[in-house]
Amino acid sequence: MHEFSTAVNIIEAVKRAAKSYGATRVVGITLQIGKLSMLNHDQLLFGLEIASKGTIAENAKINIEPLPTKIRCRQCSTESNVTQKGSLYDILSSLNCPKCESNDVDVSQGRECVVKDIQAEIEEKEK
Ligand SMILES: [Zn+2]
Repeated sequence: MHEFSTAVNIIEAVKRAAKSYGATRVVGITLQIGKLSMLNHDQLLFGLEIASKGTIAENAKINIEPLPTKIRCRQCSTESNVTQKGSLYDILSSLNCPKCESNDVDVSQGRECVVKDIQAEIEEKEK
């Protein structure tokens, strides 16, 4: 299950970040997910709920923001945002460079799922 392994990786990254800041509880996680990552958001949220059980990030509120799809042209090296709406198939089958109209393009952004931001509580240590 693609979503579950992604969820585990996200929680691991959040735990590392929380530890490095001395956080005692993670209350919110903001993710950016590219449309081309093929991740199902509901399944990812479910995976995160399971993966965060018993960790510092349990019950954290998950915000998901879309990560824009970008392409880079292999002919003229122009990088551009993909603004097409519609299904993944429509988007992938109509990718071309806005400058030279070549369809010899690479997806340079949009496959990723990244942790953009973490909201955490830091408690003063007593004693
Ligand atoms: Zn081009």
